[in-house]
Amino acid sequence: MKTHKITLIPGDGIGPEVSSAVVSILEAAGAATGVRFEWHRHLAGAEAFEKTREYIPKELYESIEENRVALKGPVTTPVGGGFASINVTLRKKFELFANFRPVKNLPGLKTKYPDVDLIIVRENMEDLYAGLEHEVVPGVVQALKVITSKGSTRIAKFAFDYARKHGRKKVHAIHKANIMKLSDGLFLRCCRDVSLGFPEVSYHEHIVDNACMQLVMNPYQYDVLLTENLYGDILSDLCSAFVGGLGLVPGANLGTECAIFEAVHGSAPDIAGKDMANPTALLQSAVLMLHHINEPETAERVQAGLEQVYREGKVLTKDVGGTSGTKAFADAVLKAMEAPV
Ligand code: ATP
Ligand code: MG
Repeated sequence: MKTHKITLIPGDGIGPEVSSAVVSILEAAGAATGVRFEWHRHLAGAEAFEKTREYIPKELYESIEENRVALKGPVTTPVGGGFASINVTLRKKFELFANFRPVKNLPGLKTKYPDVDLIIVRENMEDLYAGLEHEVVPGVVQALKVITSKGSTRIAKFAFDYARKHGRKKVHAIHKANIMKLSDGLFLRCCRDVSLGFPEVSYHEHIVDNACMQLVMNPYQYDVLLTENLYGDILSDLCSAFVGGLGLVPGANLGTECAIFEAVHGSAPDIAGKDMANPTALLQSAVLMLHHINEPETAERVQAGLEQVYREGKVLTKDVGGTSGTKAFADAVLKAMEAPV
């Protein structure tokens, strides 16, 4: 039996509920497929600060460095004052330069757009997320948008490599270079240069505001969306709506050394602690993780169980039109994995 050591950050808000649902499903799928997980649990954010006086405790950093794989629930970033984003800090620390977010319909779940199958590849370390802001004089604040050719080239390469490897036909670079001529201009130039090495993938450029409209009009015209950090954040939430909302869409933060798997959604404080959260997004992130650690059989078992629950449509959470809670949904997936059809 193979054992994988995985750093687990349950997170806050709905994080602990969705994480515990996901862990129980992975444990069961692992037991059935000869895979064992050793979870190294760590706090991050406000809760960690209360206990250790650090928002990201040293042990958490060391754990990710050692295990190289983490599964992470959402961690709240306070609006306005407070501490810097834990998510952004972790992505920078481990050079997780690529944020990979597949947006795909689940069987049986009726949405406004069936058969959507998009990939968002979002640059994960630069842009306005560099967090460089200062007050010039009272009443005037400046935020620095940082775009580098190194960062833009490597994210573009990631997107095209993925497209080539998985038979994706089109990459759209999303930008606002008509206004931000230097920064987005540089991003676009890098994307164009990289595209030349991939003649089998067609390359296109769309201005971000137009892309929002085009996406809602006809999401099928897109295949891989290649974006800077902020546009990717916004487009991810928009695209999640095609397939049933934020409760569903998974994500992976990838670098050359480590990987952190986490859902697109945040900590959803409005429904936290109420057994209402949909664990599907984190579960599908865990499926990406299982493929990453080369356990496809376990991944497929989880995905098949999940899809069966959606296909039957009897035990679903409220966000996707059901009446069941987080725990009941997780139990349904466990049951479906035991008795595959
Ligand atoms: P962040 O800034 O961390 O990205 P956000 O402002 O985008 O956070 P979220 O926490 O992602 O906000 O949630 C937005 C809304 O989507 C929540 O209020 C909640 O109703 C819904 N939502 C998010 N995740 C889930 C989930 N897993 N299950 C059900 N509903 C969810
Ligand atoms: Mg968000």
